[in-house]
Amino acid sequence: LTQLFRPLDLLGMVYRTIRQGLIDMEAMFALVDTPQEIRDLPDAPALHVAQGEVRFEAVRFGYDPAREILHGLSFTIPAGKTLAIVGPSGAGKSTIARLLFRFYDIQSGRILIDGQDIARVQQDSLRAAIGIVPQDMVLFNDTVGYNIGYGRAGASEAEIEAAARGASIHDFILSLPDGYATRVGERGLKLSGGEKQRVAIARTLVKNPPILVLDEATSALDSRTEEAIQGVLGEIARRRTTIIVAHRLSTVVDADEILMLDAGQIAERGTHQQLLRAGGLYAAMWARQAQERASGDAAVGEAVE
Ligand code: ADP
Ligand code: MG
Repeated sequence: LTQLFRPLDLLGMVYRTIRQGLIDMEAMFALVDTPQEIRDLPDAPALHVAQGEVRFEAVRFGYDPAREILHGLSFTIPAGKTLAIVGPSGAGKSTIARLLFRFYDIQSGRILIDGQDIARVQQDSLRAAIGIVPQDMVLFNDTVGYNIGYGRAGASEAEIEAAARGASIHDFILSLPDGYATRVGERGLKLSGGEKQRVAIARTLVKNPPILVLDEATSALDSRTEEAIQGVLGEIARRRTTIIVAHRLSTVVDADEILMLDAGQIAERGTHQQLLRAGGLYAAMWARQAQERASGDAAVGEAVE
């Protein structure tokens, strides 16, 4: 487990790991259950991110090798561009995010960052380069300031506050009994789903990674807050290679490319306009959601799986 963290974090993490129990940590990294053990190759070099191009080459993967989930997936996200992944629940969207972070090794194919196979570099360096805002955020039983600063060892109070402002949660934190020193998590103040997501976004702002993965990052927010956060996320994504997993298609119209994933295969790909013109699955899903938006806020219900 210690391999998950950069050396500087190590001592603090070992201590907190024992205190927290392993459950929080796994959930924090959006793990569903304990993955196979992933090890560095002897003498694995550090990942060197120069541009930030992400490439999946014929990736095949199943949590259980007997039940393949992704059936030979290929796509390239040019450095600094945004790829959106949409599709029905269970299609394999979150799995793609987990594989990029190398929670699991793939059965065949390659995943490359700037031409480097992620299975052949140090995991610490890989995970330092990628920021994930997970679907379900689990907080550490610690202060809200700690939870945000966790994004990068040695983050200053000013940096933590700036990130909280960026994630539209600074004012809320100031309204808490002890401000940034307020204890949250299972044994502290319970935050709502939307508040936790904003803490996750603030943490990612502190981390400032070249590659960003947003897994339904705004699904727990009401539409007003979502709009505000969408602006922030758009800003963060602008100069970074970004993967957005989304249910609500209104959040992906500006993506450079959209993949419609269905049962572990790419059913359709293109820009929003191209996919609308194609008149397939995406166009149908768009029409359905537009109708729901028109008839009240039903889309919010659908976004929360
Ligand atoms: P999505 O994010 O598109 O809803 P996921 O990537 O979470 O879909 O899941 C894809 C498939 O993999 C589903 O059939 C799901 O049941 C299965 N799956 C997800 N996580 C695990 C796991 N940890 N172990 C076994 N199967 C899993
Ligand atoms: Mg998912």
